[in-house]
Amino acid sequence: MSDAKSNYFEFWQETVSRIKETLPDQEYTTWFNRIVYTGCDDKKVILAGASQFILDTVIARYRDLLVNTLSELTGEEISVEFIVKSRTEIEEHKKQDKGIKEHPQEEPKPIIIQKPQVSEEKTLKMKLESNLNPSYEFSSFVIGDNSTFAFNASLAIAKNPGVSYNPCLIYGGVGLGKTHLLNSIGNYIINNTPELKVMYVTAEMFTNEFIESIGSQRTQSFKNKFRKVDVLLIDDIHFLQGKDSTQEELFHTFNNLYESKKQMVFTCDRPISELKNITNRLSSRFERGLNVDLQPPNYETRMAILKSKSRQRGSAISEDILNYIATNVCTNVRDLESSLTKLIAYSELLDQDLSLDKAKELLGILPSLAANANQTLSIDSIIKVVGEYFNVSTFEIKGKKKNKSLIQPRQIAMYLSRDITEYSTTEIGTEFGGRDHTTVMHAYARIESLMKGDESFTNTILKLRRDLISGKK
Ligand code: ADP
Ligand code: MG
Repeated sequence: MSDAKSNYFEFWQETVSRIKETLPDQEYTTWFNRIVYTGCDDKKVILAGASQFILDTVIARYRDLLVNTLSELTGEEISVEFIVKSRTEIEEHKKQDKGIKEHPQEEPKPIIIQKPQVSEEKTLKMKLESNLNPSYEFSSFVIGDNSTFAFNASLAIAKNPGVSYNPCLIYGGVGLGKTHLLNSIGNYIINNTPELKVMYVTAEMFTNEFIESIGSQRTQSFKNKFRKVDVLLIDDIHFLQGKDSTQEELFHTFNNLYESKKQMVFTCDRPISELKNITNRLSSRFERGLNVDLQPPNYETRMAILKSKSRQRGSAISEDILNYIATNVCTNVRDLESSLTKLIAYSELLDQDLSLDKAKELLGILPSLAANANQTLSIDSIIKVVGEYFNVSTFEIKGKKKNKSLIQPRQIAMYLSRDITEYSTTEIGTEFGGRDHTTVMHAYARIESLMKGDESFTNTILKLRRDLISGKK
């Protein structure tokens, strides 16, 4: 096997395994068992089939899908060339590819040559101890406008833990796929490099275990536990805000693992710069490596996610209903999923196809849709959500203090109150501790102008707005 062949081979494998997820078995076998990867040339993947007929059909049906998936996975603009080869040659390639899959020690990479044998029993034990959720895999993650970069970075890390991007931080609002990606990284590593010890924890679990270890005077065993892993995945680190001694402990764990080039991946619901009550030395560690964000998916991606999920569940929800969901549920993937689940459950229970009208009626009661009637949102709940985000109390926001750390959250809460609700600026001013309506107008103008020049600030405002509208808080 030449080096050129191996260049894009892994991406090719990932591409077909994704396509396999989306096609009926029969269709997949008919076409994808008849073409093979034969090698590559500068950003070009060369595929072969045994007849022009096979190639023409594959080109007509799947070329775009192949090109798009390969380009997404590699982050490069990949083209695909098709050539005819004899049946014997095709079979030969298939055997070789199988060899690559089943006997990875034949691969020229040293890491694989040195791979010690890991027994099945041990792998199972490692899986259990890793805490990973095995149902989150790269193959079920739909890549879209919002997530290409985060997905590529995660896959690169999974393929080369400790080498490519270390540490890595994935941040974004609720329900956008952070936990899914984090677990996919871990599962991929466990399945492909089982000699590495992977550990997944939420920041909350980390905190609780730490506290417990202090109580039972077992801090040393706590330290050992986290310092002997090869890959540490910590979910939702915003939970650590204000937890000083846990931060201190994580800081030391971080240094320890970092020095020995162990992979760390974290997730957070906001950019690190917006965390409050986190020591500088810890936040600078989080920011040190690659920071990637997940944004809410756009319409096309929402549609692709819905189609993929409804196919996975073997449901026959019609395209116009999926379109209705994709148009109306704009908040995040979790909400998309729950809308779909609800409709599928209903149609299965009644054993009948849903009409669009029935779907509308059913979804009308979802909080994310109902919240379109935004008048129901109270100013107090806006103040509360904004306050929680910036770690300041409602009392402080409504109060008279003019600290810098209070002014901006206050102005943001005013901005959102005016933006989302139907209350007048006078009413809003009253709710904010009896302020004048001009103060509210000034705050609104101020936040609007800040948003024009600052993308990350804008994202924060949009995130808060989304959280409020989707009724998450
Ligand atoms: P977060 O951790 O960011 O709050 P999750 O990873 O828990 O979000 O995602 C919420 C749900 O949406 C999960 O069931 C997850 O599998 C699904 N999901 C999120 N993003 C995607 C995606 N791009 N493709 C497929 N499923 C997704
Ligand atoms: Mg999560």
